[in-house]
Amino acid sequence: MNFAFQCLNHNDVQPEYIVLNSSLSDQERILCEKCWKISKWKSNAISQKDAIFRIESKQNEVKNDIQNQTNTLNKIVEQVKNLLNQLNFYYGSLISQIENWKEDLTKMTFKDNENNSQFFLQELDRINQKQMLSKEKQFYETNRAYLLKMIHGFNTNDFRKKLEELQKILVKLFKETKIKVPEYNIKLKKINQIKQDSCCLSLVFNQFNTLMISTKLHQIQIWSFDKGIINLKQILDVHTKWVNCLVYSKKIDAFISGSDDSTIVITKLVNEKWVSSKPFHRHQMEVYCLLLNQEEDLLFSGSCDKSIIVWKLDFQKNQLEFHYQLDKHKNSIYSLSLNQKENILISCANQKDQIIVWGKEEKEDKLTFKYIVKQKDSKNLYGKKIFFLSDNRFLWVTANDGVDKIFIFESTKGVFEENKEKTIELVQNQEIEDQFEFPIIEINQNKIILVRHKNQIHFLQDQGNGKLVKIYCMQCLTKNTYGSLTSKGEFLVYWDNDILGYQIYEVNYT
Ligand SMILES: [Zn+2]
Repeated sequence: MNFAFQCLNHNDVQPEYIVLNSSLSDQERILCEKCWKISKWKSNAISQKDAIFRIESKQNEVKNDIQNQTNTLNKIVEQVKNLLNQLNFYYGSLISQIENWKEDLTKMTFKDNENNSQFFLQELDRINQKQMLSKEKQFYETNRAYLLKMIHGFNTNDFRKKLEELQKILVKLFKETKIKVPEYNIKLKKINQIKQDSCCLSLVFNQFNTLMISTKLHQIQIWSFDKGIINLKQILDVHTKWVNCLVYSKKIDAFISGSDDSTIVITKLVNEKWVSSKPFHRHQMEVYCLLLNQEEDLLFSGSCDKSIIVWKLDFQKNQLEFHYQLDKHKNSIYSLSLNQKENILISCANQKDQIIVWGKEEKEDKLTFKYIVKQKDSKNLYGKKIFFLSDNRFLWVTANDGVDKIFIFESTKGVFEENKEKTIELVQNQEIEDQFEFPIIEINQNKIILVRHKNQIHFLQDQGNGKLVKIYCMQCLTKNTYGSLTSKGEFLVYWDNDILGYQIYEVNYT
């Protein structure tokens, strides 16, 4: 491979390093040794040699795949040709038998010399004695002989076997051919950057992507959002300590916030004014995560006090009412997810063996503890993010330092179990733990799942059957990266403590 790359600052030296961050410009990504040493992307750059090796080994893999597939197809052509030859032979000999049969019948002409008087009398006697005429006898014998030959020579079982052989060949081809759903190609373009020195832990958009709600320590900020351009409209002081989580209604302009002050507040747009409820106080400690059901009449909150509270929610009245409480976790609850049918809630806490399944029967009003998920490879690990992919499948992201994986759990016979074959390896990062903030987002229309893990933002695509593929990885400079995607995934916005502000990206899917 040959490159015409040059370091942006030094065009007289050979460039040595390439930054693995496609959101930078092409020039910014090529570094010489000198520039690499002082680059903030130092740890996310690889040597040119390594880059060539990576591309070439992947290309070789594809080359091998193509070669193997071509060989397989050649073999199949030979097998089918062989079957065709055998069938041709059968049909061919069938035709020649029939031709012979016809010829034998044609030869049976009634010749003049057989019409002498002796022969004439013999035939008359045969008729009289109700016997066959000699030609008649010959005709029946010929037919019988050919039919017998054909029945023995052409076994229909043979034909069936040949067709079955063909079917087997094709089934094998379907099984062994590598197929993947076409993956999206994702391009991120940075379009804006807004300063905010104080930390934002949570960020959400309204359903039409015209409003963005973010936090600033204990405050909540309301921004207008127009295709990536944000303008601060209002600041709300409804909490006394840091706000950890926000959820926005999919039905009306209203959102709910959870805070370190252990309260939950509903804020709603009434006559173009934002009106907040009183703080609802039931948790004993910090509120870490919030979840709405589809009807938006129930709110689930997870807390540092190890409990999940289920609230009756009334957006019209800006009202929360304690419904019931789920106690079984032994540590802070960081993540909650409901399945589509909403008869199963899963939750995870900051400790090993803390993925819990809560469920209810159709006529039951309340969820109850079902079981702690038995983990295999992921046992002894803990995670801070959990998410239902479908009614019988969820993912769980590890948070430990040194372990970087997404595990898929599937329910067969009603019990969730780890499916080892679907585990996803993320970029190894020994030094840091994952933060629970920046919860998982699913963009339904193109089956994109967004997972911020440590200092990376992964765009995953669900290929069906819970097979997730990594299609894009955004490398951030810090694990303190908190943000969200707009509802159709067109914009990614996050606050990070590297630039101390919001970075706004346009996301293109092709
Ligand atoms: Zn340089």
